Amino acid sequence: QENALELEDLVMHFGPVRAVDGVSLTIPRGRVTALVGESGSGKSTVGRCVVRLVEPTSGVVRIAGADVTHLSRRQLRRHRSDVSIVFQDPAGSLNPRMLVGDIVAEPLRLSRRRLSRRDREARVAAELGRVGLRAEVARRYPHELSGGQRQRVSIARALISEPMLLIADEPTSALDVSVQASVLNLLADLQRDIGFACLFITHDLSAVEYLADDIAVMYLGQLVEKGSREQIFARPAHPYTQALLSAAPVADPERQRQRQQVLLGDDLPSALDPPSGCRFRTRCPLAFDRCATEVPAQIEFGDGVAACHLVQPDGTRPDVRAAETN
Ligand code: SF4
Ligand code: MG
Repeated sequence: QENALELEDLVMHFGPVRAVDGVSLTIPRGRVTALVGESGSGKSTVGRCVVRLVEPTSGVVRIAGADVTHLSRRQLRRHRSDVSIVFQDPAGSLNPRMLVGDIVAEPLRLSRRRLSRRDREARVAAELGRVGLRAEVARRYPHELSGGQRQRVSIARALISEPMLLIADEPTSALDVSVQASVLNLLADLQRDIGFACLFITHDLSAVEYLADDIAVMYLGQLVEKGSREQIFARPAHPYTQALLSAAPVADPERQRQRQQVLLGDDLPSALDPPSGCRFRTRCPLAFDRCATEVPAQIEFGDGVAACHLVQPDGTRPDVRAAETN
């Protein structure tokens, strides 16, 4: 099986809220795709659909080639060892009444493999070592650890079952800035050593520069651009991707402030009532008449795909930075 994850036209509506509205995405085995978007873009919901914390409204989720879209929780257990998730906030996702060793060992208990107590403890110690924690941490409770250590425990729990696919949902954004880089580096090192595929969900495009093979940019429930890391960073095609990259710090703070205001000044519109035509048009500095009436198609342009009327199959693309100086 070549692909760890396949999403086909995934839709997740919560009543009238169109959280995810037609997302198609493939992650080959062993590769990392960063799913990037602002808070409220629907990116976490995509991750939750993959691990079936919620049942998609429509579309298809395939993990390692198996359609898991509508499996019951019991049927899904067979696939549990194929996919794991690391959540944003380790404090909320670790049971405070369980010892760390039992937390990390839990996926082994749920799998069909029967291990002796001694083998299980050895596996837990090895897994803790792999995430940079000492074996005696197994006898502590989560509240006795720092935030960064707790997130390492979450990662150990997620990886002990040797999943083919890891969903990492903003794994560093609840942590102190001082430890974010070390947890990110740990994930990158583990991914290189072990070779699991990863859907890395983040609002911070710069955080994925050294981790992602491919990048998918999400806006109001839809993908606006997909491409290799190299393409997205060197030649972003969609005005939203360009704006996200331009919003990265520049030397002059006044210029930085102006730039963010021009490019992403307003809040994300509501997923209850997304704008007609191109959903980005209310914030796009290049919007024109057609953008309000016609939904832009996904245009393939060689090294990527983008949904904007100004992107052409020959690679012609708009430039919001040029528009900004006009
Ligand atoms: Fe901007 Fe129009 Fe392109 Fe949407 S389709 S990104 S509004 S230029
Ligand atoms: Mg989120």
